[in-house]
Amino acid sequence: MTEVIDGVVVSGAGPVGLVTAMKLARAGIRVVVVDSEPFIRNEPRAAVYHSPVVERFDRLGLLEDLRQIGVLKQAYHYWSIDHTLLGHFTFDVLRPEDTAYPFNLHLGQPALAEVILRHLLRVPGAEVRWNTRVVGVTQNDESVTATVETAEGPKQIRARWLIGADGAHSGVRRALNLKLEGVTWPEWFVATNVRFDFTKHGYGQSNAVLDPEHWAIIPIIDQTGLWRCTYREDGHLSEDEARRLVPERYALFAPGLADCTPEAVSPYRVHDRCLETFRIGRVLMAGDAAHLINPIGGLGLTGGLLDALSLADALIAVIEGRRREHVLDAWAQERRRVFLEVTAPTAKENRRRLSERDPARRQADAERLRRLTNDPELARQALLGVFQLVGRDVLA
Ligand SMILES: Cc1cc2nc3c(=O)[nH]c(=O)nc-3n(C[C@H](O)[C@H](O)[C@H](O)COP(=O)(O)OP(=O)(O)OC[C@H]3O[C@@H](n4cnc5c(N)ncnc54)[C@H](O)[C@@H]3O)c2cc1C
Repeated sequence: MTEVIDGVVVSGAGPVGLVTAMKLARAGIRVVVVDSEPFIRNEPRAAVYHSPVVERFDRLGLLEDLRQIGVLKQAYHYWSIDHTLLGHFTFDVLRPEDTAYPFNLHLGQPALAEVILRHLLRVPGAEVRWNTRVVGVTQNDESVTATVETAEGPKQIRARWLIGADGAHSGVRRALNLKLEGVTWPEWFVATNVRFDFTKHGYGQSNAVLDPEHWAIIPIIDQTGLWRCTYREDGHLSEDEARRLVPERYALFAPGLADCTPEAVSPYRVHDRCLETFRIGRVLMAGDAAHLINPIGGLGLTGGLLDALSLADALIAVIEGRRREHVLDAWAQERRRVFLEVTAPTAKENRRRLSERDPARRQADAERLRRLTNDPELARQALLGVFQLVGRDVLA
């Protein structure tokens, strides 16, 4: 028998699916989130969310809870592998008219998702079904039907709209046979969580270590003293070999770090990929299900959350009859444009700067860091770049 939901099904209880569902539910729309896993998985993934998203967390009433556990970051430090400081600047260079939120939020993705989930479940009628995997999708002019696998066996759920926010291995994307075109980078990104006081070794709240072989990104990620240390590893190694080499790599970044046992280690393959369209009739694709980018600079989930928030606004307007459906095409085009023109080129350039091998370009990069350190207006422009991720308001 087919269950009928007069509203929206969201596939994926990651941050993108949960925040979309929360906005829809708060607008009085019936929303059911389904997720293939039994709970939010505790993996070392996103940790840094940029100022435009922090502002939106505040508007959603999430920021107070998030700042209780996360860290508001206000400075960037850049190092060479021999721990020479190449440059640093702070958010003090921003002007009051630039933003009322002159900081980024640092917090592990699972903790972020838990906070959003808690707020979602406070909305009467909002529902999250775990152990429910989307494996099939069909649609007609009026509705969309998801086939899901559950502990009780397969079943069908019919709704007005389906949001594919089910991440890199999206079941919705597979069911519709959509291709994520692009490239996969050849190296491993080894993400680790570790309790170690990096500040004793001169590190700031957010650090980049520039090196072609062993670049690293080292931010603090919560108030309990947990740090993320993500670094490059040779892509020819097996995943097990990459895990075994953690102490050897840790020794590169700070004395004593190699003696610490990390709380989590995950080697990732990273991608630069995007769908041809984010709207397929009654199915809307957002976050990692629609686009994948390397995590240097923390743009992936920041961009995904901005997809989610503007999607929710557009879909609410359509469901309430204030806008015609073509506003969803405008949303899809705008979010794809932002990914292709802003997110992907910025993240690619971040990866190049961290891993540059050419001595002349390395020298030019080091010179740029010196100028960023000494020229507040240059640093301000660098920080403002991320505001382009917000894109155009398709309802305006
Ligand atoms: C090492 C690393 C560091 C990163 N750091 C940052 C950072 O600092 N800042 C930043 O902005 N981004 C960062 N990112 C990127 C960020 O992690 C992703 O962009 C983010 O996870 C995307 O969120 P999402 O909700 O779209 O997908 P996900 O978080 O992947 O959630 C998808 C959900 O869908 C569920 N699901 C999967 N298949 C199905 C199915 N068939 N049916 C139902 N449910 C399903 C999954 O169980 C999961 O809960 C980083 C990524 C990595 C790997």
